[in-house]
Amino acid sequence: MGTPSIMAIAPSVVGIATGIILLWVVVAVVVGILLRTVGVLFPRLGMFGSVLSHVCEAGPRLALTFDDGPDPVTTRQILKILEEERCIATFFVVGEKVVEHPELLREMVAAGHGLGLHGFHHDRLHALQPTAFATRDILQVRAAVEAACGLRPRWFRPPVGHASPATFRAAEETGVEIVTWSARGLDGIRGAEPSSVLRRVARRLKPGGIVMLHDASEKGDFVPASVSVLAEIIRLARSRGLTWVTLDELTGVQSLEAGQQAGVDSEAAGSVTTKRAPSS
Ligand SMILES: [Zn+2]
Repeated sequence: MGTPSIMAIAPSVVGIATGIILLWVVVAVVVGILLRTVGVLFPRLGMFGSVLSHVCEAGPRLALTFDDGPDPVTTRQILKILEEERCIATFFVVGEKVVEHPELLREMVAAGHGLGLHGFHHDRLHALQPTAFATRDILQVRAAVEAACGLRPRWFRPPVGHASPATFRAAEETGVEIVTWSARGLDGIRGAEPSSVLRRVARRLKPGGIVMLHDASEKGDFVPASVSVLAEIIRLARSRGLTWVTLDELTGVQSLEAGQQAGVDSEAAGSVTTKRAPSS
């Protein structure tokens, strides 16, 4: 057998090199997609921007937050428990529900609770949408809140808590800050066991924490488990020496500004701090 000629070896070397390069490209693309997915699912990792999930140096205080309302039945149940327990919270509201029940927002504000935005349609794929969509959605829910109570919230919790680079760009364009949580009860799932919601939250009650529960189910078709364990969660934190405050108080940021829409009552905006119920 003779020695292979240079002409025979060259094509196979080129083929192997091309194969290796292609393999690396595929690996890089897959790793990129995985990293991006992790960043979207867990925005608190800060891969695409900063989010508020807890506050260091907050002292023995923590914030109670609710998503997916307002709902004429279950939000009222939550508001009643908060009143009975003399506790204040921050409600992340859904725009289309605000349009249907603007009076509930006014009740929240009158009781001294804080407000945040949670998307207009509660689109579960919000984080996969382009920046223009996310921007429009934030502007829509903010306009609904302004029309309802004359206030413009700065906090924004994306639906299902996912945030992509487009979500961060939209937040920057609209001047809102993305908020997630340090503890969540998974109480907004149909059939969630109140005892497991309580156990889950109890393990995560920490100074500077942001607890996320639901004052309504996503479709308004069942009562979230939070309703039956809220009083216990409130008392449990207090028994550990923790005080419930709004997100504004936890962060030291006055997030609610007077709205820009016609007919806005600037006195209503000013009353947010003065009407706040005593809390601990
Ligand atoms: Zn939600």
